[in-house]
Amino acid sequence: MEELRAKAKELLAAGTVKVVVGYGEGSDKYRARAVFVRKAEQADKLICDARCQQNLAVYLTRSEVKAMGKPAVVARPPAMRTLLQLAAERQLAPGDVVVLGISADGKLLDLPDFKAIESYVATVPMDWESNPELARLEAMSSEERWAYWKEQFSHCIKCYACRSSCPLCYCSRCTVECNQPQWIFAAPHTLGNLEWHVMRAMHLAGRCIDCGSCSDACPVGIPLNLLTQMLAREVKSDFDQVAGLSADSEYALSSFKPDDKEDFIR
Ligand code: SF4
Ligand code: SF4
Repeated sequence: MEELRAKAKELLAAGTVKVVVGYGEGSDKYRARAVFVRKAEQADKLICDARCQQNLAVYLTRSEVKAMGKPAVVARPPAMRTLLQLAAERQLAPGDVVVLGISADGKLLDLPDFKAIESYVATVPMDWESNPELARLEAMSSEERWAYWKEQFSHCIKCYACRSSCPLCYCSRCTVECNQPQWIFAAPHTLGNLEWHVMRAMHLAGRCIDCGSCSDACPVGIPLNLLTQMLAREVKSDFDQVAGLSADSEYALSSFKPDDKEDFIR
């Protein structure tokens, strides 16, 4: 923690960055929250312990944070994968952000550029590689899975906390808010919820970097990340692509090859 604070202080004092997005004390001793440190003398507000799991990279595409000037971000492995995915989607360029990488066991890492981040995240397993809940879902028949998700989605109150917490949901206007025409029902009823969740999952297929922030944010406990984890496995198996591992990767569902063996391209 002291190393992190010292580094943040140094970056702010030198003017290398204008804001450090990190973790600070939350509303009680069990919680941490995001803090935006803009002065070197405030760097002691930063904390880094087991409570600090939120993916802070979500703030980097927000206009309020962009307006503060060049940021440094405290990044655990899922946030590092986010930075690579945002770079692959042309939302971040090299030099836009200073990364204060924190290893899985809480150490400050030296990650001077995207290549260094790529090398580090390649050593960190994805949750979907070994999640027993995912294995349980995959062992179900399609009818059982359909019943499972219909039941889960029936609890959704359309608060969109999952969307706000997702670092890859950065569109300035979401389809769910378009009403001319209204593609997705706004009300939290069976059809409206199903439409919202299918749209959300497909938008994130092959882009989700497996941070789990959506599930953590959901006030009714829907395990949303299981859905995107299933899609991540499908994308890996069909396209041999994993989101968040490279700053130069293509997006499986929006790129094509003229010599594709299927005939849809003609
Ligand atoms: S869909 Fe969920 S797990 Fe995937 S990047 Fe967004 S918040 Fe993280
Ligand atoms: S956070 Fe949960 S309740 Fe809110 S919109 Fe997302 S799935 Fe629905």
